[in-house]
Amino acid sequence: MRYVSTRGAAATVGLSGAIAAGLAPDGGLYVPEAMPRVDMPRSPGSLAGTAAHMLEPFFAGDPLAMELPAICAEAFAFPAPRRELRIDRAYLLELFHGPTAAFKDFGARFLAACLVRLRRDADRPLTILVATSGDTGAAVGAAFDGVPGMRVAILYPDQRVSPRQAHQLGSFGDNVRALRVAGSFDDCQRLVKAALGDATLQADVPLSSANSISLGRLLPQMAYFGRAALSATQRMNTIVPTGNLGNAVACLWAREIGFPIGDVVFACNANETLPEFFAGRPYRARDAVATIANAMDVGAPSNFERLRHLFGGDEATRLHGHAESVDDAEIRDTIHRHAAADGEVFCPHTATGIRVLERLRMAGDEREWTMAATAHPAKFDTIVEPLIGREVEVPDALKAMLERESLAEPMAADSRVFSEWLRGWQ
Ligand SMILES: *Cc1c(COP(=O)(O)O)cnc(C)c1O
Repeated sequence: MRYVSTRGAAATVGLSGAIAAGLAPDGGLYVPEAMPRVDMPRSPGSLAGTAAHMLEPFFAGDPLAMELPAICAEAFAFPAPRRELRIDRAYLLELFHGPTAAFKDFGARFLAACLVRLRRDADRPLTILVATSGDTGAAVGAAFDGVPGMRVAILYPDQRVSPRQAHQLGSFGDNVRALRVAGSFDDCQRLVKAALGDATLQADVPLSSANSISLGRLLPQMAYFGRAALSATQRMNTIVPTGNLGNAVACLWAREIGFPIGDVVFACNANETLPEFFAGRPYRARDAVATIANAMDVGAPSNFERLRHLFGGDEATRLHGHAESVDDAEIRDTIHRHAAADGEVFCPHTATGIRVLERLRMAGDEREWTMAATAHPAKFDTIVEPLIGREVEVPDALKAMLERESLAEPMAADSRVFSEWLRGWQ
């Protein structure tokens, strides 16, 4: 399989090239030159096995192809069960059983498994830079924790992530370091961009990034949607809590290659870029507004170009998708009401999807729906617990991480200070 840029002005590359590069040289995102069709397995099988089967055509012809089963075994080391909710004709696809209790664990571990193989013969370590407002940094840190030849610098805005998130970010081994930046998330992103664009620095310290546009994170996310669809008795209509459209595009790609996925609805928080677009207005990127579903606080969804490329233009895209906006008051109400009525407890992101289901029911939709549960509610205890009036039980993996020591170093929001810090990292 060859990969082309969504902007069409870059040479095609193989999978390894696309994973190593991140962004295409013309500023676009890499997508498969043509979407393959994949034979449906008779039964769902293991998650790792389904992943290897689904991804085979995407790896065809690449040096990593032979290692795909091993990569999948490393990345899909925990389950993604689809369970029936105590809500009528509704299922939850639980994507939070990994070490940091959010779906990003799958993509981060898959990317790590690919990169470590691509760097096997390198004589110097590769340093991955991640700017994070919480979940991404933890998933990437956990995925690369202790991986030989790889280092991670996590940059997060000091005092602006939840206490549990901050603890997680600083809890990894020596090759993963957390920097609490005196500034905002945008300042963190600026430092990362400046470092990645600094050729002199890169000559001294090889750098890469691990953001949500990476094919190495996007491709594996198809697997849990595909496997869940095989376990459903009818085409799986799916609601995906959405920020940068990474999970949602993966779900649509799984449908495109032939898995039995039906309608796909994007549940957004108060950031209305996508709901407006799907309501017929022109696409307009903007600054994000802060919400209690903070991992979805995105005003310019980075995978939008992939969505538009998949369907070929704005009008065609609108025919194939639908997006709804759910505000903080509705998120709170949804969490509170379900905990009281049926004992189901959702994280704020997952609650946007539940709310969208309720709207569909109000509009007369009687079909079966599956909601992606993107994080465990225990990760957002300071929001969820006051709403449900009790403690949320913490999953074992998260508990283990919270019991480790945690250390973060202060960092000025100054790219010269940051590049000197990188040079000094031995
Ligand atoms: C990242 C994240 C999202 C948004 O996913 P995208 O792929 O960016 O659309 C939703 N929920 C949680 C918990 C997340 O961490």
